Amino acid sequence: MKTVVLKFGGTSVGSIERIKKVCKIIYSYKSKKNNVVVISSAMSGVTNDLVKKSKLLSNNFNKAEYDALLATGEQTSCALIAGRLNHIGLKSRSWQSWQIPIITEGPHSSARINQVIVKELKKYLKDGGTPIITGFQGINNRFRLTTIGRSGSDATAIMLAKFIKADECIIYTDVDGVYTTDPRQHKKAKKIKKIFYDEMLEMASLGSKVMQPSSVQDAKLNNIDIKVKSSFISKPGTLITGSTKTFSNQIITGISSTKNDAKITIVGVKDKPGIAASIFKPLSKNLINVDMVVQNISLNGKETDMTFTIKSDDLKKTEKLIKQNKKISYKKLSFDKDVSKVSIIGVGMITTPGITYRMFQALALKKINILVISTSEIKISVLISAKHVKKAVSVLHKEFKLD
Ligand code: ADP
Ligand code: ASP
Ligand code: MG
Repeated sequence: MKTVVLKFGGTSVGSIERIKKVCKIIYSYKSKKNNVVVISSAMSGVTNDLVKKSKLLSNNFNKAEYDALLATGEQTSCALIAGRLNHIGLKSRSWQSWQIPIITEGPHSSARINQVIVKELKKYLKDGGTPIITGFQGINNRFRLTTIGRSGSDATAIMLAKFIKADECIIYTDVDGVYTTDPRQHKKAKKIKKIFYDEMLEMASLGSKVMQPSSVQDAKLNNIDIKVKSSFISKPGTLITGSTKTFSNQIITGISSTKNDAKITIVGVKDKPGIAASIFKPLSKNLINVDMVVQNISLNGKETDMTFTIKSDDLKKTEKLIKQNKKISYKKLSFDKDVSKVSIIGVGMITTPGITYRMFQALALKKINILVISTSEIKISVLISAKHVKKAVSVLHKEFKLD
């Protein structure tokens, strides 16, 4: 008997009608004699609402209570699914992560799942039951509820697939697969049949929210193939895999863009050894993620300019930390909140020369100014003014023959 893990995202369980539809999908797997393990997100909007409530009560909400609060969304959707499945004649029950338990390590809000005790789940499956498990959460070694980062139900599904030794792991969402770029923003986006873990990881980390980045990392580490499909229409989806069988020879696989980036430039910093470390140490201590970094070559050997990007939510805190930092002296601090990062991703660029030039030339022809550049083996990212993002994605989509 095959065991399949099915994960349903927030929009897929976003209304009573949609929950009924999800239950039909689950029923169809059961009627084909599969063992089915279901992971559900909270109904769409619910987690955001809980975040808002916590902010209204405190701008420094207790971290453990924040996780306890955010974890409640999934309890509702799982109970609704299990209740409906009982109604249509399937044996089913909801399981909260602590009841399994799903054990996590690491700080609140960004914990990682390191173990799932599957003994009871296996017994239940053997008895013909369909467990509906809360995504996005676990418990730590002090039995406190933890959450594993926004969109974390993806990672829950992958880790459940690992520990239960599932034959398949399917992520059901509101689009019918992974596209060359966000299909809601660009009409010419095309569905990708197969994508490598590394490409998906870059796309997800660089703004394609269809998969949570750390879930792709978990899938890669554990060699778990993921299918991404639509919960609304029955169509073949996308396979995320490490296998090299039958891949297209496309050079660029996809294009991602970010929202909510901010650029900071510290002008006229005293140029001496250790200066970069002195700037970034307090940021790292405060868990502020620094992304692109550029340090200008100092012309007079005395002063330099340092530019870097962070999430705009961290801008106020970063400004305060830099102003308080006694280890650095500089002439001016400048900020730009309206910037975005646009990236092209594809393993094909490792073996194909000239990709960087083609990207820069295509943007230049559209008069799009590049502010910062960063590259890895399989991606090139540029920081540009946020108002040009749509135009940039569309010109690059065309340039790399993804249209
Ligand atoms: P879920 O609630 O099911 O987890 P998400 O909202 O997290 O769904 O992810 C699905 C959304 O991801 C889509 O609605 C789509 O707008 C967005 N998206 C961004 N980039 C891509 C891409 N390259 N391919 C498909 N969807 C994408
Ligand atoms: N409900 C959580 C969120 O909105 C987790 C998830 O949807 O995967 O981030
Ligand atoms: Mg998601």
